[in-house]
Amino acid sequence: MTDSLGDWRRTHYSKRMDPEMSGEQITVMGWIHEIRDLGGIIFVLLRDRDGIIQITAPSKKISKELLDEIRKLKKESVIAVRGNIQESGKAPGGYEIIPNEIKLLNQSKLPLPLDTTDKVRAEIDTRLDSRYIDLRRPTSSVIFKIKSRMLHSVRNFLEKGEFIEINTPKLVASATEGGTELFPITYFEREAFLGQSPQLYKQMMMATGLDKVYEIAPIFRAEEHDTLRHLNEVISIDIEASFCDHEDVMKILEGMVHTVLGDVANYGEDELKLLGVDLEIPDIPFDRIDYDDVVDIVNSKGVNMGYGEDLSRAAEKAIGEHMNNYYFITHWPTDIKPFYVMPDDKDPKRSCAFDLMYKDLEISSGAQRVHKHDLLVERIKKQGLNPVSFERYLAAFEYGMPPHAGWGLGAERFTMCITGAKNIRETVLFPRDRRRLTP
Ligand code: ATP
Ligand code: MG
Repeated sequence: MTDSLGDWRRTHYSKRMDPEMSGEQITVMGWIHEIRDLGGIIFVLLRDRDGIIQITAPSKKISKELLDEIRKLKKESVIAVRGNIQESGKAPGGYEIIPNEIKLLNQSKLPLPLDTTDKVRAEIDTRLDSRYIDLRRPTSSVIFKIKSRMLHSVRNFLEKGEFIEINTPKLVASATEGGTELFPITYFEREAFLGQSPQLYKQMMMATGLDKVYEIAPIFRAEEHDTLRHLNEVISIDIEASFCDHEDVMKILEGMVHTVLGDVANYGEDELKLLGVDLEIPDIPFDRIDYDDVVDIVNSKGVNMGYGEDLSRAAEKAIGEHMNNYYFITHWPTDIKPFYVMPDDKDPKRSCAFDLMYKDLEISSGAQRVHKHDLLVERIKKQGLNPVSFERYLAAFEYGMPPHAGWGLGAERFTMCITGAKNIRETVLFPRDRRRLTP
């Protein structure tokens, strides 16, 4: 038998108590984290979004009926408790509630697919299969509180910088970069794809006069690899800005990272503490290292890397050990960067492209873009692609396209940097990888 919510409403979350409330009757709601029946006294630990509060039921003070009701409660069932709050040195959080009335709002089936008290460690796959229960574990859900703070701070920063938030389509007709990393879908009688990047759309926005835009949205990559840093669906934080070069948008990026980390450290202090993270706020400007120097350093550390190659995993690790936490790799070879990346005026083999790294993890790629139509067509052909499939995009460059630059920052990889998560799956509610499409 369960009770209805009726006119009961929560008055407080578990952690928002203060000494002045002592003796006051409050109503809390949540899950039964643990229940300990010592005969003369029963302790129920009630867990809500904020944490845990102890419900203390001493047989001397509580009616037999209520005690019997409490005795019947089971782990992870949902309850509402009305009672008097009092300070208690022994209770977690420093307060306990002496109950007057309890409602059993819903029951949980037992046994649970995984333990919510962290006493028994579950494998990541078990956790992801029952993610809704896994997220009852504070160390699991706190990552999403931090991710939310991060995204809020990102929006704040960009809005202050007069960026306009846009939404571009995720159902697209052709590849952004012609790559093979596309998920084909059936679009009525045609083939279409899931968008791998808002790149072409945000560039077209530069021809509209919106001037500075950003988008925070999913990107889809049909990458087959199974790593701790790749997923097939992630959130990309993208900006594009007119009358800017790569240096300008690098400044925006490092300024944003610096500000966001400061905000998270400030407002998310308790959350970071729960994870045992002492967040270091990096000084700006971040170090900049030329791609050519990266190749030299990587080779000097015994990892083979030729000029013109992308960084292998071993190369990322080698350069990560050599540099400060956050740093830019600049002047990438034009040939290994996408067609829309601007070649360097003085040395067209090198480009105005950069990556932002955190230790050995790439978190963002950006560049000054090609804004001249003919050069863009040439670059598309040079990369073995057909300009015809980019017709509508290319047209935007014929009627007054300003010089522009931008970047894309992976929200999950950035969350990994902040929380110290080693597996990107920890930073996504329902990760999509090669093997996982449910829940
Ligand atoms: P990597 O070389 O690490 O696979 P990438 O160079 O293919 O990344 P970009 O196309 O430059 O990635 O995308 C910009 C940013 O988006 C990356 O720096 C990263 O933060 C994020 N990102 C891209 N693809 C993925 C993915 N499959 N999983 C997680 N994050 C990704
Ligand atoms: Mg990249």
